[in-house]
Parts: sequence; structure tokens; C-alpha cells
Amino acid sequence: MIPSTWIPWRARAIAWLLAWMITATVFTAVAEQNYTVRRGDTLYGIARKHGITAARLAARNGLSKNYYVRIGQRLVIPEGAGEASPELPFFVQRAIDRAEVKAGRWKYIVIHHSGVDTGTVEGMDRYHREERHMDNGLAYHFVIGNGHGMADGEIGVGSRWTRQLDGGHVTSASQNKVCLGICLVGNFDRHEPTPKQLAQLKVLVQALLLRCALSASAVKTHQQINVLFTRCPGQHFPTKRFLASLESAEPRRTASKP
Ligand SMILES: [Zn+2]
Repeated sequence: MIPSTWIPWRARAIAWLLAWMITATVFTAVAEQNYTVRRGDTLYGIARKHGITAARLAARNGLSKNYYVRIGQRLVIPEGAGEASPELPFFVQRAIDRAEVKAGRWKYIVIHHSGVDTGTVEGMDRYHREERHMDNGLAYHFVIGNGHGMADGEIGVGSRWTRQLDGGHVTSASQNKVCLGICLVGNFDRHEPTPKQLAQLKVLVQALLLRCALSASAVKTHQQINVLFTRCPGQHFPTKRFLASLESAEPRRTASKP
């Protein structure tokens, strides 16, 4: 006979264990780049999700003979995974595709930093509307989060993109008519953008270049294009490295299916 307290105790223990496993899996996947194999996972699927090849993932985890993985198995995701070939979230690509971009509408894509280390699309929109008195709100077309306010690398699509409105992010009114603005949350006078921000910036810019029929030379920092001197996007934004990485890459769509 089962003691009367046994079932509730065991149920509680299982619930606690499950909660712990879910938390631990999410935490390690982000912070430590470990991954716990779940039901339905294949090595190919896990590799694809992290933007690496199955061969590289197998080699890192000593899975040389076959690529079989079992539920609960812990895999190490190699460092730099996801930066090599990151993808644009499907909803962002859809927003890029759906906007009614007129031929010749945009001439430049301008990169900014927010200058503060916490930020969201909603917060910036409110600030530009209420403090800067901009009727169209958020001055940028896109915002990329840094993990404080928005997720690290999260792309926010502004209404100026979906409605194809002029930007409000550079000093000159005539430049605002032809400059798309992308703002990365952070103060890059103090530190670099996060690797995820840079990776997502690259795929976003590539998708926009394609959509707007522009070449990589159309991508500028705020400092490079502004008529007045500005430090934006900060002395630690890797301008040369980032622009060079665009020159060597083909414009492309990267979004996966939802
Ligand atoms: Zn700026």
C-alpha cells in the first residue's frame, strides 16, 4: 500500500524538478551556450537553430560515429555559434517585405547608439513624442536591444518603417527624407555593442539593402553622415570592421520560417 503522503510528495518533487529543468535549460542555453536535448530534437535541428553545421556541433561534443542524440543529453554549443550565420526573425523579414517601399525612396541606412544602457521601442517612442515633440514618435525605423529593456539582439520595427515615413534621427531635414535610421540600445562611448546586437544589425542591414535596392556603400554611421559633428554611435562602435563585413557579404534574406 502506498503511504497517503507519498503521491503528493512525489508530484510536488516532479513539478519542482520540471520547473528547475526548464529554468536551467533556458539559462544555460543563453548564458553558457549549453543545450539540453529535448523530445523531437535532432543534431541537425539543434545545429541549425544555433547557426552552425551539424558536423561542427558533433565534433565539439565528440559525436564522431553517428549523430544520434538522446533526450536530456547536454551538448556544448561552440563559442561564436549564431554569430557566423545569424538569421533575421521571421516577423522582421515579413515587416520588411510588406512595407510599400517606393523605388528610390531611401538612399542611406544610418547607424546610431541610444547613448544609454537601457531602452525599449516604447520608451524611446514616448520620449521622442513627449520630450522631442515629434508627432510620428520614435525617430528611428528600427531599434536593436541589448538585454536591458529589450532582449539582447531583439529587433523592434518602428512605425516609421511600416508606414514608410521620413526619419527624425539626423540633423538635416533633407537627409531625414532619405535616411533609414537604426538605433542600437547602449552607450558605445563606454563599451562595444553586444555580439548579438552586431550580428542582428548585420542581417537587418543586409535585408534592408536588398529591399531598398542599395549597395553596402549606402550604410553610414550617424557621425559619417551628419552635417553637425556628433560622436554617435560612440567611439567603441566598430565602424571599420562592421562596414568591411558588409562589403564582403552579399545582400541576402536570412529569415527562417516561423
Ligand atoms: Zn545618432
